[in-house]
Amino acid sequence: MENMSILYQQKPHLLKYRYFTFSEYLKERFPYKVHKIPLHAGFTCPNRDGRAGIGGCTYCINESFSPNVGETRLSIKEQIEIGKAFQKKKYGAEKFIAYFQSFTNTYADLETLKTCYEEALTDKDIVGISIGTRPDCVTDEILSLINSYTKDYHVWIEYGLQSIHDKTLKYINRGHDYNAFLDAINRTKNTCIRICVHVILGLPGETVEDMMETAYAVAGLGIHGIKLHHLYVAKNTALAEDYFRGKVKTMGMDTYVKLAVDFLERIPSNVTVQRLVGDTHGNSLISPIWKSTKVEITQRIIREFERRGTYQGSRCNILTPDINNSIPSSIQGMQKLDNKESEFHTVEI
Ligand code: SF4
Repeated sequence: MENMSILYQQKPHLLKYRYFTFSEYLKERFPYKVHKIPLHAGFTCPNRDGRAGIGGCTYCINESFSPNVGETRLSIKEQIEIGKAFQKKKYGAEKFIAYFQSFTNTYADLETLKTCYEEALTDKDIVGISIGTRPDCVTDEILSLINSYTKDYHVWIEYGLQSIHDKTLKYINRGHDYNAFLDAINRTKNTCIRICVHVILGLPGETVEDMMETAYAVAGLGIHGIKLHHLYVAKNTALAEDYFRGKVKTMGMDTYVKLAVDFLERIPSNVTVQRLVGDTHGNSLISPIWKSTKVEITQRIIREFERRGTYQGSRCNILTPDINNSIPSSIQGMQKLDNKESEFHTVEI
């Protein structure tokens, strides 16, 4: 309880939301409202074109991840202009993080990547960049390029992991194993890039214990952000075939809510949660059909924390040390929180 009261003093949002929302994270770091703009840069994926695998992950219908995937003919600049106008109008956002979301956004030669990232970074309202990729698709040269932006921008890399269990990764045809992920994490930790990890709950064949093992493993890696998804089955995927053969089941919402809370109780309270629930776009979803919005599901998760009297990190006594250069000095007006962050220590379990 002592630890809890200290956390509440340092992170009052834990009282309100019970987990470290990404909007709170951004509020702590920027004096203006910052939102992410999802971008489709036209990259493909090595797990689709044969370099790492063929056919992709069994659940992958990449269109379902990317609202603007249909706008591939638009340049990065045009996508940013559209995203800015939308987010300014809808959320009152003032500055933006360019989020390279669709497919594998490090899957090109260095010069192409540089041109692409810098097309986004030249926009005066872009204060950060977030690059979604696979752990087997980052060379040291690519990490060095991305790291070079940390001097002036708030920089994230997002690694798809989904599970630490190789048997699961094999079943879902990820095309890489857990060791490849650990290798990418270890090399990224030598840089000033923040790391966000994607995990799916409810993968075929996984028990609750398997998922909690993933939570404990991820908690100890020194990452800065996490995205949780529930397993869903979308049309035109290999997973859909298994689903219709009865080999794959999806979860009810109550089960997911409990699992998400179980998982987050094991994640350090200063790791920001960038996503709490997966979603599909359009009519591609087969299962599960939950008649609730994402906001309603999020509320259910908060209520489950309250019912238990717990919060993110309540079963974990590790805090992730923040990156020293967390406040790029060239971002005008940005709040200085280095001292506050440095009050957190890594505590051995
Ligand atoms: S790594 Fe991502 S884009 Fe590639 S097949 Fe898997 S889910 Fe799809």
